[in-house]
Amino acid sequence: MTSIGFIGLGHMGAPMAHNLVKKGQNVFVFDLNQKAIDHLVQEGAKAVSSLKELSQSVDVIMTMLPTGRDVEAVYAGTDGILRHAKPATLLIDSSTVSVDDARALHQLANKAGMRMIDAPVSGGVAAATAATLTFMVGGDESDFAYAKPILSLMGKAVIHAGPIGNGQAAKVCNNMILGISMIAVSEAFMLGSKLGLDPKKLFEISSQSSGQCWSMTTYCPVSGILPNVPANNDYQPGFTAAMMLKDLRISQMAAQSVGAATPLGAEATALYTLFNNLGHRDLDFSAIIKMIEGALPI
Ligand code: NAD
Repeated sequence: MTSIGFIGLGHMGAPMAHNLVKKGQNVFVFDLNQKAIDHLVQEGAKAVSSLKELSQSVDVIMTMLPTGRDVEAVYAGTDGILRHAKPATLLIDSSTVSVDDARALHQLANKAGMRMIDAPVSGGVAAATAATLTFMVGGDESDFAYAKPILSLMGKAVIHAGPIGNGQAAKVCNNMILGISMIAVSEAFMLGSKLGLDPKKLFEISSQSSGQCWSMTTYCPVSGILPNVPANNDYQPGFTAAMMLKDLRISQMAAQSVGAATPLGAEATALYTLFNNLGHRDLDFSAIIKMIEGALPI
């Protein structure tokens, strides 16, 4: 059986690794947070004491880390996996990083004799838990074919987007839509409320009308409408406002690099910058509705 290393056991990585364990895979886990490791080990994963030990024990290494810089540290740091993994190990990076970072990481991996694909995800913590993520994959056809059965254990859709970096290209476009649409939904519910419309009534109508979108019908930022969303839990993440801002910044760097005009992406970036600067970086990104309502602090 393929042995899988999983590095980064946070909001997303923990439930993803959990699903691999639950489905009978041989999983070795590592994180800077010992509690996160202990939790997975209780569920049946194997603990390792270092990245070196993990690298030497597995055939496939998944990373689910905050930023491109974190992935680079895990790949190319002094105790990094590129120094210690077996030749031809397949590296699957599911973190959201820039297209340029994904391509640079791929070059580093190739130089060290490893294979690599970028495989960012969409769906959030609920989909990570339910193994219904969407994986968007950039890389060689043969590496995609090798990874697909593994990724399918954590997702409902595993889509090859093209060569290395194209998974991140799809992800950054998707998350630019997400950031913009969360603000749009927030503005509409704020306006509806000021016009005397019950938010539940607006949801009932708009979720069956042309304003329908994921930010409304799966992740509604208004409390008391959908079960199990951060809005019902004091906006505990979920997906932090800091992560959303990271993704929007990536979208704007990408847009600049190819001369694309993304005015709403730029506005969403400015609004999430403001929200983060107001001290709310650790809240879920849907909490931006509170800023739009003028209802800060939460
Ligand atoms: P998180 O901050 O909850 O988890 C990151 C984990 O990585 C933490 O447990 C941290 O201890 C660990 N870590 C950081 N540096 C490390 C290192 N050098 N070695 C080992 N472990 C290290 O983040 P998250 O919300 O799980 O997001 C992870 C990635 O997934 C991000 O790139 C994010 O943009 C993307 N993403 C998140 C969501 C979401 O809803 N949270 C959805 C889709 C994609």
